[in-house]
Amino acid sequence: KAKDLGRNGYQIFDAEHDRQSRSRLQSLQRLEQALVQGELQLYYQPKVNMRDGQIVGMEALMRWHHPLRGVLPPGAFLPEVEDSQLDIRLGEWVIETALQQMALWRGEGRVLSVSVNISAHHLQQSDFAARLASLLDAHADVPRGMLEIEVLESTALSDVEHVGRLMQTCQALGVRFSLDDFGTGYSSLLYLKRLPADKLKIDQSFIRGMHESSDDLAIVQGIIGLSEAFSRELVAEGVETVEHGSLLLHLGCDVAQGYGIAKPMPAGEVVAWCRHWHSPPQWQGARKRWSQ
Ligand code: C2E
Ligand code: MG
Ligand code: MG
Ligand code: MG
Repeated sequence: KAKDLGRNGYQIFDAEHDRQSRSRLQSLQRLEQALVQGELQLYYQPKVNMRDGQIVGMEALMRWHHPLRGVLPPGAFLPEVEDSQLDIRLGEWVIETALQQMALWRGEGRVLSVSVNISAHHLQQSDFAARLASLLDAHADVPRGMLEIEVLESTALSDVEHVGRLMQTCQALGVRFSLDDFGTGYSSLLYLKRLPADKLKIDQSFIRGMHESSDDLAIVQGIIGLSEAFSRELVAEGVETVEHGSLLLHLGCDVAQGYGIAKPMPAGEVVAWCRHWHSPPQWQGARKRWSQ
């Protein structure tokens, strides 16, 4: 009797497993179709230096203009793609699209560097550097040194030494690296020690909690200290309020990204945004107060 139950249980699990992999396959096929049909688009969110108001660059963030469901954020469809071949195709599309966009902006008189989000899975492909080099060659009109790669720590890097060497190879091509969501992923400190990343991005959860939680504040201060000790540049994510910005300036983090500066926007709005951007006077006030 117990044996029957066990067998049934197994069959039920099997059917469920089957249903899940069929539905994953369907979403992958649908997303591939979206890519081919041009339903995917990159939005861009500015990163600015709060101390002098300088625009440091843009982060490219993927959106899906779904014909039925409207504009979807990556959280609604990218998790399905993780570790698939499509993940790599999407990543290459993102790099290619960002390079094209930089060339277009340059034509409009705006030289902007762009960072793209690349999964650990994609980064660990053995031909990553070679493919990146040929994409850069195909866009010789984009000045070298303008492309940045944000490495997502949501999955562990299986071979940190390999990724370290890969980063050096890509850096020789003029590509820069940042560790995204720093402090939340796998073994951040090990990565900081072993990977020659140029930049750390403080995760928005710590920024959000900074005013209420002494733990979050301590983490933000700790990351700022680490960035100085390891001579890495720093960006704070999720800066929503003048209070966030002022406190970060006070603590020594000058570069910020967040809704308090601008929400991610379509490429066509970026040049006009840059023209009208000026840092909030409150930040300048805060700076004067603290620098006395
Ligand atoms: P991320 O790289 O950490 O990007 C920051 C996310 O925070 C973006 O969400 C952005 O819209 C959002 N954000 C920015 N400022 C604020 C703020 O002040 N408050 C709040 N609450 N949120 C803010 P988004 O665009 O939904 O992207 C989510 C994540 O999806 C990204 O996190 C990144 O990990 C991933 N992603 C985005 N585009 C791509 C892509 O092209 N390829 C890959 N592999 N992943 C991507
Ligand atoms: Mg990012
Ligand atoms: Mg992030
Ligand atoms: Mg994130």
